[in-house]
Formats: sequence, structure tokens, C-alpha cells
Amino acid sequence: MCGFDCCPGGAKFDKLRNLRPDRIFAIWDERLLMAKKPRATCSDAGGVSTSRDTLSDPPQHRWHASNGGIDTVLDILVVAAHPDDAELGMAGAIMNFVGRGKRVGILDLTSGEPTPHGSLEIRARETAAATEILGIAWRENLRLPNRSLESSLEARRQLAAVFRRTRPRWIFAPYWVDAHPDHLAAVELIEAARFWSKLSKSDLPGEPHHPQRIFHYFSIHLRLAVQPSMILDISDYWQRKRAAIECYHSQFIEGRSDGGPTLIDRFRDEAAHWGWLIGAEFGEPFACREPLGIRSFDELT
Ligand SMILES: [Zn+2]
Repeated sequence: MCGFDCCPGGAKFDKLRNLRPDRIFAIWDERLLMAKKPRATCSDAGGVSTSRDTLSDPPQHRWHASNGGIDTVLDILVVAAHPDDAELGMAGAIMNFVGRGKRVGILDLTSGEPTPHGSLEIRARETAAATEILGIAWRENLRLPNRSLESSLEARRQLAAVFRRTRPRWIFAPYWVDAHPDHLAAVELIEAARFWSKLSKSDLPGEPHHPQRIFHYFSIHLRLAVQPSMILDISDYWQRKRAAIECYHSQFIEGRSDGGPTLIDRFRDEAAHWGWLIGAEFGEPFACREPLGIRSFDELT
């Protein structure tokens, strides 16, 4: 049993069914229009009911927490190849930004499915539950093809249009070394779309916009001894980050061996390692290819 209230049967999950007037939920995939809602159960095994005939309302593709408008301007946009990458790599930073009054959004490029224990319906519900914990203003899915993500001209056009629409000051992208081709394609795509987004005299919708910086978070499929540019103290956010990660039951808990350290234990140990390097309990590493400017050394831990 996951022990958190973000899974079906939990309080937060139930809250998601009662859409508040200031939030607009749209569909994640047209197929989900035909899906039905799961029974409100969270089994002792921690399982999520997946039977299509027990589902009713479609999970959401879009999440706009402000005025429900499409033209949501963000301070920070986290771009992820798959739902769960953003939570894994930088849930602590996201909650830190939100706590400081920044408008943060996540753009998932693909559905992340198929996976061994997931489905479109399950993944969408898990994403909704994690999004609720993060407390972010905006989340969408670009519906590019999972496992076949490419930095194509059409994908670049779509992503550049999102940059122009959301106008983030900073973008967060995956790390540029990885085993997962989707993650590598995402990095190339994000950098190209950032460039296109600023172009004038183009047929892209919206006004030109150039996100000032790209930072890279670590959610990688390699056991690399990475050298980050900086580490954020996320000690105040670790428990909520863990809860957000555990919402992705199909990805990190179901079917995993519970002998020895679990995958969630590994994530905790990793966060503790990064925290230890900066004298904090838990940390999150980030990289940046460009030099960072600072006005004072006072903010350094
Ligand atoms: Zn991923």
C-alpha cells in the first residue's frame, strides 16, 4: 500500500473528481473520452484498478489552475519527455519555486505509455495526482509519440508555439547525457524550439519570445556519476517530493521487488547524497551549459 492520499481511494484523488470552478480539465488523449473512472479503491497491495469498464470520467490532458485561460504566462516551464520525469528530477525545486510565488508549469512531451504496468488511463490519473501535490499552475501534454520522440521540424514548431504562449523566463530540460532516446531527443528539441521561439518574421503563432536560460535536471536512465553545476537544498520538500513520486505507482512501485532497498529508497538515498554534498538533509542537482551570473555570494549555502 502506498500510504499516501494521492492514489485512488485517497483524499486528494477524490478531490480531483470534483473539479473546482477555477480549474479546467481537458482530455489527455481522445481515447480517454471513452474511458471510465476507476473504483475508489487503493488495495492493500497498492494496486490501481485498471479495468476499463470501471472507469467513467476521462483524466485530464490540460491543467490550468489560474483562470482556466489558454494564454497562461509562466515564470518557469519544466519540459519533460514523459510524465514522472519532472517529479523525479525536480519536484523539490518546483515546490520551492511555487513556495516563492513563481508560476510554474510542466509540459510533458509524450504520454510515457506503453509501460509494463501502466496504461494511458493509469498514467494520466497518476500524473493528475502528482500535479495536485506539486501545486503548480499549469500542465499540458504535447502528445508527441512516446519511445519515438524526434526533434522534428513539426515537433519544434509545436514546442516553440508553447514557449510563445507560456512565455517562461526559464526552461528546465532533461540532462544531455542519457540512455533513453526520448530524453536525448527532448534536449535537442527543446534547444531548437527555444531558438525558433524568438524568431520574428515566422509563421509561428504568438509573439517572439526567448526563454532566458535552460537548466537541466537529472532524471536519467544511466548510473552516471554526474557533476552538477549546482545543488538545491530540498530538505523542506523531500516528503512531498516522495509523495509525488509515489503517485506513479505503476512506474516505481508495482512489479518492483520489495526485498532490500526499494526503488523509492534509492531515490531517497540519492537525494540524501546530494544534500550531504551541500550540508543539507536532501538535495536536487542541476546542470547548466552556460555560465551563471550572480549578484552576490550571499545566497550560496
Ligand atoms: Zn523519462
